[in-house]
Amino acid sequence: MRKQIAAANWKMNLTFQQGEKLLDDILGANIDLADHQLVIFAVPSPYLLMTRSEVEEEKNYYTSAQNCYNKKSGAYTGEISAEMLHSINVPYCVIGHSERREYFNESNAVLAEKLNLCLENYITPIFCCGEPLSIREANTQNEFVAQQLKESLFHLSPEKIKDIVIAYEPIWAIGTGKTATTEQAQEMHAYLRSVLAAQYGQSISDQISILYGGSVKANNAKEIFGSPDVDGGLVGGASLVAADFIEIIKALK
Ligand code: 13P
Repeated sequence: MRKQIAAANWKMNLTFQQGEKLLDDILGANIDLADHQLVIFAVPSPYLLMTRSEVEEEKNYYTSAQNCYNKKSGAYTGEISAEMLHSINVPYCVIGHSERREYFNESNAVLAEKLNLCLENYITPIFCCGEPLSIREANTQNEFVAQQLKESLFHLSPEKIKDIVIAYEPIWAIGTGKTATTEQAQEMHAYLRSVLAAQYGQSISDQISILYGGSVKANNAKEIFGSPDVDGGLVGGASLVAADFIEIIKALK
């Protein structure tokens, strides 16, 4: 079975102390994860080491960065490299979140460079894709998202691509309380899998976890995760409340 993943994206929220308490509360629930189930916390950079030490002893709980820079090293004040993340044993990094694409003008080409640097540094990228509302209304979401994959991912070898995680996050569903319907999510995930299969073959495509993101909540996670091509979620708002994220973890297949 493909890896099923509940990933928390804290974005720029919580103080260090609040973050520590949230992790304690979630880990304190002692949820027994099956071998194929993972929980990942994508936390602000100053909290990476704390998070790593909180999850270290826990089976299948991991730390993720929310971003890294698209250059190896050098005079880029304020930026964080993939090598730095690797040097503190951070195993995952979110790449290409729609907020980064929008507010920091990250293009598909820049994201391809970030992916390469992550993979060179043994970091698994959680690559985000997804269309804005105008594209959904024009019913061209498939072409739009396929282009994001093509321009950022398709230079990767089959060995590399099978290790990445993809998160489909329709922008119109992020932080809006408006989720894609189960049918819309399944349809897009199946489409993404077919695009991956056309490029890399079915068996590689079948190994890649595709998460859904956009207003995943405690009360809808089970239904969304239940679809055959949805392998868990990348969760914003609801990952900041222990009781809610615990329910979301429990909703994994
Ligand atoms: P919300 O769950 O708050 O809609 O955010 C989704 C998201 O952007 C996760 O990366």
